[in-house]
Amino acid sequence: MNYNVDSNGYYGNFGGAYIPEMLYPNVEELRQRYLEVMNEPDFKVTFDKLLRDYVGRPSPLYFASRLSEKHGARIYLKREDLNHTGAHKINNTIGQILMARKLGKKRIIAETGAGQHGVATATVCALMGMECVVYMGEIDIARQAPNVARMKMLGATVRPALSGSRTLKDATNEAIRDWINNPVDTHYIIGSAIGPHPYPDMVTRFQSIISEEIKWQLKEKEGRENPDYVIACIGGGSNAAGTYYHFLDQPEVGIIAVEAAGKGIHSGESAATSILGKEGIIHGCKTLLMQSEDGQITEPYSISAGLDYPGVGPMHAHLYTSGRGEFYSATDDEAMHAGLELAKLEGIIPAIESSHAFAVFNHKNFKKDDIVVISLSGRGDKDLDTYINYFNL
Ligand SMILES: *Cc1c(COP(=O)(O)O)cnc(C)c1O
Repeated sequence: MNYNVDSNGYYGNFGGAYIPEMLYPNVEELRQRYLEVMNEPDFKVTFDKLLRDYVGRPSPLYFASRLSEKHGARIYLKREDLNHTGAHKINNTIGQILMARKLGKKRIIAETGAGQHGVATATVCALMGMECVVYMGEIDIARQAPNVARMKMLGATVRPALSGSRTLKDATNEAIRDWINNPVDTHYIIGSAIGPHPYPDMVTRFQSIISEEIKWQLKEKEGRENPDYVIACIGGGSNAAGTYYHFLDQPEVGIIAVEAAGKGIHSGESAATSILGKEGIIHGCKTLLMQSEDGQITEPYSISAGLDYPGVGPMHAHLYTSGRGEFYSATDDEAMHAGLELAKLEGIIPAIESSHAFAVFNHKNFKKDDIVVISLSGRGDKDLDTYINYFNL
């Protein structure tokens, strides 16, 4: 079984490029060039240099001794929370802006829901001196004022999406419309391991630095490269894809995904996409997504804005249906308490997205000598208000 993308842009039955014909030239240019560009020596040198000096990589692999004691396993945390801008998203935006520059693009567009990807995109546009337009639903703009302010301070233009439910999917439609109208000079930076081929594979490769580092870091600490399990939370699936990448074809490494169950998988307010989803098309790819009987995309819900997405990247849809990955889902309550536990035991306040991964211990028992690596995808500063309200701090 192959868990990577095939030459047609599919992971098993999932993936592909389901796009309007007018977008074909843009996506096709990227498809033809992305691997060749990523393999150019000067691209690699610049990417590595920025990851080191700007992002602060390698991110530490930290042995969490008190958490390990509590849950009876050897638990390591991959500290993506220590990256510049506070999460893994910057790995991808650095890669894509270098790609855009190589393809001769002058202008960057992106869509954002909670604003995290918008901020990561605005950051690299400031770094490279490129024009940046971020589409964001009008409702999200009102809900996410600090991230809107960050984007503006970084020099980006935030354009409100005024149609439909005025949230992420409407912002995506606006971004696609912009790209159709500006095919020559504009690159569209997608923020997760989703979208039409080659995006899921390109984003996964940029994020694969996470598992590349885990391998040598674990070798130094434990004398072997492969852990028994790698664990990550899944929104669209980019931190997970990066964490799994170098272990996909190592059957002795268990792959565990934790999705957001919101108020409960069957409560009608959830984002447990793989478990609830059916095959359909979203954001230009065929994957598992939450939809009604007649195929309308269902509005997802999670306490964490970054997991509040109705689909899942095609790699993960394949890992789920093939059985290569073990999928769990954690409710809001489980995630909040897992986040608090990490704060109390290790002195680390995680992003609420990442807290979902730590709720795995409610669902699975590990053996005492199991080496378990958890992707700590981001830091909790942005979520302090949510923690304050939830715990009455
Ligand atoms: C955006 C975000 C996620 C979810 O996105 P993926 O593409 O699934 O990784 C997870 N954690 C943090 C901290 C985020 O900001």
